[in-house]
Amino acid sequence: STFHSLKIDEWLINQCKLLGIEKPTPVQSNCIPPILEGRDCIGCDRTGSGKTFAFALPIVQTLSKDPYGIFALILTPTRELAYQIADQFQIVGKSINLRLSVVVGGMGMMEQGIELSNHPHIVIATPGRLADHLESCKTFSFKSIKFLVMDEADRLLEGNFDEQLQTIFQALPEKRQTLLFSATITDTLTKLRECALNNPFMWSA
Ligand code: AMP
Repeated sequence: STFHSLKIDEWLINQCKLLGIEKPTPVQSNCIPPILEGRDCIGCDRTGSGKTFAFALPIVQTLSKDPYGIFALILTPTRELAYQIADQFQIVGKSINLRLSVVVGGMGMMEQGIELSNHPHIVIATPGRLADHLESCKTFSFKSIKFLVMDEADRLLEGNFDEQLQTIFQALPEKRQTLLFSATITDTLTKLRECALNNPFMWSA
């Protein structure tokens, strides 16, 4: 398949070309169409398989049509991954002035609070720090969130984040699209699927 046949818009295809990305990887060809159709999705493939663009392209495309409020929340287990994801969103979202906020530990709570109150389109966060913000005097709302992504979901679920994830889930609207990406399908992932996803499209490499 091509990005064109996956119904990715021309301007995004051109943005990808600038990065030398011409042909979708398997996780992208399989997961992008159901995501653009509005379905929840679980995608399993190894690290480095192109999972980030599998969710970033459909999210940026949908957002470009109606960029209202904080649009998407991406949860990931580590700071490094959060910054890597932010870099990729930054590049594809450049021409629509996509605004991102990276909410991870080790940075000032105050600055992050201000950033969050300035309505970024996308929040990329590790669960611990985001839960801290939700539990302190909150200056922002997640009511307008359309997409929740759990990147490296197996690691998120194995990593003692239970309480923080509860806090975060409670702040999100029920009506949203949830996308899980993982290297493996674990028991906890299966449990999460039952409680947090709605008839998800599932694809595994
Ligand atoms: P990820 O699995 O999302 O961490 O992506 C791994 C690397 O593959 C990143 O450096 C991407 O820029 C690159 N990449 C993602 N999609 C493609 C693609 N369709 N063709 C070539 N490289 C890609």
